[in-house]
Formats: sequence, structure tokens, C-alpha cells
Amino acid sequence: MKKSIECPYCSEVCALVSDYNDVHLKGKTVSVDFLSYQCDSCEQSFTTTEIDEVNLERIEKACRIWDRKQKISNVLKQKNL
Ligand SMILES: [Zn+2]
Repeated sequence: MKKSIECPYCSEVCALVSDYNDVHLKGKTVSVDFLSYQCDSCEQSFTTTEIDEVNLERIEKACRIWDRKQKISNVLKQKNL
């Protein structure tokens, strides 16, 4: 993944940035660190297919962690801990 690419709108250099966003999915709310390219010059932000795939993986991972936490808290409830 490139740290910076040429902006498709103004041809300036855009840096790869990450930003936390809440995602609501199947009754879950997970916080995901999303990657995107941000152009300082024209203030456009955009992603590439590669970055979309990374973001999707991050959502899936966050959902798996959410499931695991939920499972643990259910077990703790049953054991009255
Ligand atoms: Zn630009």
C-alpha cells in the first residue's frame, strides 16, 4: 500500500490517513480505523480497491472481536461473575 498517491482530481500528492468511524452492522456497533487518501490541496478524499479491501478486513475483524466480547460477557453473566 502506498503512503501517498497522486490526486485524481488535482494531481497533487495525497497522503494516506486513518480515521476512526463507528460502523453499525447486524445489530453491532464497532469502531473501525478506516484508511483513505486525503488531498490537502482540493480537500477530496478517496479510496482505492486495495484500501477498500483493507477497510473491509478491519470491519470483519472488529465484528469478530465484538462477537468474542459478547460471548465472554454472556458466560460471565451465567456464572454470576
Ligand atoms: Zn486533490
